[in-house]
Amino acid sequence: MQVNVAELKRQGPGAERTVPFAESPPAAGPAESGIEFLGPAAGEARMVNAGTGIFVTITGTQAFRLACSRCLGPVEGSFAFVIEEEYREGSNPDGGTYSQDAIDLTPLLAEGIWLHAPEHQLCRPECRGLCPTCGANLNEEACGCPTEVVDGRWEALRIQWERKSGSRGGGVDGGPEA
Ligand SMILES: [Zn+2]
Ligand SMILES: [Zn+2]
Repeated sequence: MQVNVAELKRQGPGAERTVPFAESPPAAGPAESGIEFLGPAAGEARMVNAGTGIFVTITGTQAFRLACSRCLGPVEGSFAFVIEEEYREGSNPDGGTYSQDAIDLTPLLAEGIWLHAPEHQLCRPECRGLCPTCGANLNEEACGCPTEVVDGRWEALRIQWERKSGSRGGGVDGGPEA
């Protein structure tokens, strides 16, 4: 995403301009993240002539698909992002640079998306996850594996924790299951 700032520079300090955008999201990122960005990254870039340089604020939203961190099923959603950077002509030890009145905002856009992308997501708050013994998706079937936790110390902690949070009422889909 290239923006031309010749006019902003000519208008002098305080001048500003906002441009809408719908750009391809970053294709590949850290392999372990497992997130996939869907559709365009859409939003607007606001540019202000700050005297010393051009101050850019990118605001947008990005749709994504991610594996549920409990059951590994697909989760789709979207998140908002905001990122700022000051661009100077020539050198800028603390920010971005540009030349010939053109600023390439693609790296800043990608950074904004990666900084705000969710790392963990549940398909639903009450996701039952996978059976640790047989791997069955417990949202879809009751596998019949024994549910006792092997290590008694952890079991004690779990009971305490459940007592503390036990007041949680039945969820939206909380049917009467055995
Ligand atoms: Zn899930
Ligand atoms: Zn099982």
